Amino acid sequence: MVKINLKSLSKDGIFDFIESLGLPRYRGEQLIHWIYKKNAASIDEISEFSKSLRNTLNKHAFISNLELVKNLKSRDGTEKFLFSLNDGQTIETVLIPDKGRLTLCISSQVGCALGCRFCLTGKLGFIRNLKSFEIVDQITTVQRIIMPKKITNIVLMGMGEPLLNFDRVVEALWRIVLLVGISKRKITLSTAGITPRIELFSKKAPEVNLAVSLNATTDESRDKIMPVNKRYPIKSLLNACRNFPLSPRRRITFEYVLIKGLNDSREDALRIVRLLKGIRCKVNLIPLNQSGSDSLKRPSERTILEFQKILMQNNMTALIRESKGSDILAACGQLRGGS
Ligand code: SAH
Ligand code: SF4
Repeated sequence: MVKINLKSLSKDGIFDFIESLGLPRYRGEQLIHWIYKKNAASIDEISEFSKSLRNTLNKHAFISNLELVKNLKSRDGTEKFLFSLNDGQTIETVLIPDKGRLTLCISSQVGCALGCRFCLTGKLGFIRNLKSFEIVDQITTVQRIIMPKKITNIVLMGMGEPLLNFDRVVEALWRIVLLVGISKRKITLSTAGITPRIELFSKKAPEVNLAVSLNATTDESRDKIMPVNKRYPIKSLLNACRNFPLSPRRRITFEYVLIKGLNDSREDALRIVRLLKGIRCKVNLIPLNQSGSDSLKRPSERTILEFQKILMQNNMTALIRESKGSDILAACGQLRGGS
C-alpha cells in the first residue's frame, strides 16, 4: 500500500484522511497543530498521540521533510538554507532578519524559464515546478531549525517565477494562511509580469501583497534585460496592475533593479512617475547585485540617491533596498540552488 504524505494534503484533505480511518475530527485538528505549529518531522514525534494511534497512522501515512544540505550565515545576519528534494534537485531559501521582523524568502521553482539577464536563477534555466508541499515545507523546516524564534513574514522572491507554477503556488498560499497560520498581510508574491495570470491570481489566491519586477521604463530597455517583456510588454503589464483589486491601505510594490547606464537615468525616473500614475503603489529600488560574469554594473551611490530623489519629489514612495546576504550569494538574483 502506498503511504500518504500528510504534507501533501490540504486542510480538508487531512480531515478526509482522518475520517477514512474512522477517527474523530479533533484528531485532524491535533495533526494539523503538530505538523504546522510544532513542526513535527515524523508521526512518532506527536507525543500527544498514544503509541497505538501513532502505529495506525504510521501504517497509512508519513510526514515528508526537506533535507538540509547546507546552512550559511552572512555577516549581516542573513541565513541561506540549501535543501535537497526527493529527486535530488536542490533549492535555496533565505532568512532575513530586519527590525524585529524575520522574513523568509522562499522558492517556487527549481530554476526559472524567464532568463532575466541580471539573475543567476535565470541562468540555470527551468528545471521543474515545486509541489505545494515543497513550497510550504521551506517554512516548516526553517521554523523548526530556528525555534524558539519565529518567522513573521513570507516573500515568494526566491528561485523561480511563482505565476508560472500557478496552481501549486496558489494552493501553497492557502496552506500558509490556513495551516501555518501566517497572516495574508504578511505574505508577498513577486512576479516578473505574467500579465494574464495577475488577474487570475486576484481571483484564486488569498489576498496577499503583490510585487511586480518592473526594472525598466521602455519596452526597448526592458526587452534587453527581461525577455518576458516581448510577450507581455510594459503597457499590458501595467494595465493588469491598474485593474488589480486592492483593499484599502494596500499597495502594489514595484521592484526596480538599478543597472548602470541601462535604466538609471533622470528620464527613467521621470518615466516611472508617468507610468505608475493612478496605481496605488510604492517603488523598491534595488541596486544590482553583480554576478561577476556579466557586463551589467551597479550605479554609483550618487546616481542611486538622485534616482530616489526624483521619485520622492514627485510624491512617490521610493525606498532603496540593499538586498542582504550578498557575501553568501543569498541576495536577490543570486540563488542558483548550489554553493
Ligand atoms: N521571479 C520573480 C521572483 C523572484 S526574483 C520576479 O522576478 O519577480 C525577486 C527579485 O529579485 C526581482 O524583483 C528581481 O528583479 C530581483 N533581482 C534579480 N536579480 C537581481 C540582481 N542581480 N540584483 C538585484 N536584484 C535582482
Ligand atoms: Fe526568473 Fe525572477 Fe530571476 Fe527573472 S528575476 S530569471 S523571473 S527568478
